[in-house]
Amino acid sequence: MTARRAPRVPVRPSVSGLPAYVPGARTPVGAAAYKLSSNENPYPPLPSVVAAIADAADDVNRYPDMYASELVAAIADHLASSSAQDPLAAEVAPFRVTPENVVVGNGSVAVLQHVLEAVLEPGDQVVVPWRSFEAYPIVVAVAGGEMVPVPLTDDARLDLPAMAAAVTDRTRAVLVCTPNNPTGPAVRQDEMDAFLDAVPSDVLVVVDEAYVEFVRDPRVVDGLATLDRHRNVVLVRTFSKAYGLAGLRVGYAVARKRLARAIRATSTPFGVNHLAQHAAIASLAARDELLVRVENVVAERDRMVGLLRDRGWDLPDAQGNFVWFPLGERTVAAAAEAAAAGVLVRPFAGEGIRVSVGEPEATDLLLEVSASWR
Ligand SMILES: *Cc1c(COP(=O)(O)O)cnc(C)c1O
Repeated sequence: MTARRAPRVPVRPSVSGLPAYVPGARTPVGAAAYKLSSNENPYPPLPSVVAAIADAADDVNRYPDMYASELVAAIADHLASSSAQDPLAAEVAPFRVTPENVVVGNGSVAVLQHVLEAVLEPGDQVVVPWRSFEAYPIVVAVAGGEMVPVPLTDDARLDLPAMAAAVTDRTRAVLVCTPNNPTGPAVRQDEMDAFLDAVPSDVLVVVDEAYVEFVRDPRVVDGLATLDRHRNVVLVRTFSKAYGLAGLRVGYAVARKRLARAIRATSTPFGVNHLAQHAAIASLAARDELLVRVENVVAERDRMVGLLRDRGWDLPDAQGNFVWFPLGERTVAAAAEAAAAGVLVRPFAGEGIRVSVGEPEATDLLLEVSASWR
């Protein structure tokens, strides 16, 4: 009897061809390494946030609030008060964020996935800057889209004129990462305005502002003011970086009501768990305390960049909580040297190393290690 194998379940070719997301190297328990590989917040959660998580633990036999109403209301409140203080937004009728404009998800990567699922038909193109956030190729392909990568400029910035030129009648969305992970520069408002004037109003422009709290260049995009002026803009933000909740997975989109409804419709039911909802609410309540920490990280970033430039490094503008070393072919060896010296960094083979800003002692060690990279 000839053995005949039953046919196998086919995997979507766009899925079997996907690159795996490479997480930043993790510190083995008890090891003395500094983990500067995942752009995390170096500070442990605030006691008030830990208390909120502990309180919420008593209720985890119940499903969480499906639409995270309390959290969504808190986010809308926070955004409405920040746009009210914003002089740019005040020039035009300010976009008042209401809960109907906010959609939360299991980290902003999931939110981004849902945003694309809400608008893409199979084969639609998504224009993406590249090198940029490594989740982008994955979310685009999973949503059934085709990624059109547009190279960065020589100084590692998004090339918005080239991105606008890459938009065709097959384009349904564009991803704008500002500040750009892993290179660091942020998009300026004048670049964004010119870009949005050039892009058709039926192409969705997703502005990924994962690091917005760390930006100090006053000329950069004001997301809410931009959303106010353009109906095709969606903002995506996260509690993972400045708010220090990477382990709990909470992110959100801010969009016009019609688009927000569509994003909600594609979202995983109960996607944000109960502990995460309460931790995020407590974090918004402790925002001022958290922003002091952000200020410390920004100061540490600027100290690191300043010292590196003094030593002759030509580095791109660092507006996030990380610094980019364009090392090209030396990348993998340099990352291994850093690991051996006790600093875990994130290498992008053949391109460069991204180093997250953490403790001052980690910066000092990194400065020592990087001396041999030049
Ligand atoms: C870290 C990061 C995110 C946030 O991801 P979460 O899923 O919210 O943890 C989103 N976009 C970019 C560009 C990032 O670097």
